[in-house]
Amino acid sequence: MIFKESERLKSIPPYLFAEIDEIIKKKKEKGFDVISLGIGDPDVKTPDIVVEELKRQADNPENHRYPSSYGLKALKVAAANFYKRRFNIEIDPESEVISLWGSKEGIANIAYTFINPGDIVLAPDPSYPVYKTGTMFAGGSTVSIPLREDNNYLIDFDEIDSDTAKKAKIIHANYPNNPTSAGCGIDFFEKLAEFALENNILVCHDNAYGDIYSEEDNKPVSFLNARNSKETGIEFYSLSKSFNMTGWRISIAVGNPSAISSLGKYKSNVDSGVFNAIQLAAAKALDNYDELIAENNKTYSRRRLKVWNLLDKIGLSYFKSGNTIYIWTKVPEGFTSSSFAKLLLDKASVVVTPGSAYGLCGEGFFRISLTISDERLEEAIDRMRNVF
Ligand SMILES: *Cc1c(COP(=O)(O)O)cnc(C)c1O
Repeated sequence: MIFKESERLKSIPPYLFAEIDEIIKKKKEKGFDVISLGIGDPDVKTPDIVVEELKRQADNPENHRYPSSYGLKALKVAAANFYKRRFNIEIDPESEVISLWGSKEGIANIAYTFINPGDIVLAPDPSYPVYKTGTMFAGGSTVSIPLREDNNYLIDFDEIDSDTAKKAKIIHANYPNNPTSAGCGIDFFEKLAEFALENNILVCHDNAYGDIYSEEDNKPVSFLNARNSKETGIEFYSLSKSFNMTGWRISIAVGNPSAISSLGKYKSNVDSGVFNAIQLAAAKALDNYDELIAENNKTYSRRRLKVWNLLDKIGLSYFKSGNTIYIWTKVPEGFTSSSFAKLLLDKASVVVTPGSAYGLCGEGFFRISLTISDERLEEAIDRMRNVF
């Protein structure tokens, strides 16, 4: 039997790159060695001390029972200590932190927590797709805010018309940014909080790459560093990318106590919290962040330079940023995002993500991920050089 999907699910736009996936599959079947620079999933393993802590905690029967939907006290305290040491922000572990099954879950569920059918949500374009799909599932509609290179991919608040701003309930933002890699300074977050305060909007800041940076001078700040930030919003801090923990499904949301409490109320009705042993392992990661992050950042900085070098040599222009695990690159004259991705796949067996996967404003770009070994990355670079 074929069962009819809900209208909500049917309204998800068709997957744009089915055709590219089909070509990848065929190439692999024919024995081509396909290298993917398309995946935003760290290749380096989770740090040993975190894995060891999971093993130890998994042995403790006290951790085998239902966790709280709001999170273990030990994780919330570790989160507050981390925010203090890393960002110099005071967080109340009781009322201003919640654990999540990854930021993806939190972002999707924040829509169910606050959005009524017909409500408006502001989301950047290009962006991580969940801001939009989460909103759609909850019956709301998204108004896209274009991110442009000439504004360093920052949201330009003057571009949002005042009626839309007044009506909107949530604004999503994400710096350091996927897919463009752009970072932002505290002045941008100040503007974001001010805009939210003026228009009575909840800020949802997605801090998925908050600890991936090449130098002290591009070390990211938190949205919660801004004035009025706790009054206006929350921040999703994911351990997935910064600590190589994508498979563990753990992140935290931090900030406005009323929003955190409402999100918890919703979550307590649909999930029962993350396995306590995983929460305790995450606490271990946060407690040791300085050491763990340093190693990771060395790896990404080395790989980033290799790709920049290649792009300089073959004359493709890209956004130069020491943040995130991506390089946002312009497709050459005469191509679309998708036709260029196909060309690379065809001629070099290298996969990149077409920028149009992240929204209309991503057209004309493609995204390179730094999440494969140096060796494979170099092989991919050699092949791309040969195409040009
Ligand atoms: C990877 C990513 C996430 C997902 O984080 P999880 O904590 O693994 O769910 C969220 N937002 C952005 C922008 C991402 O790139």
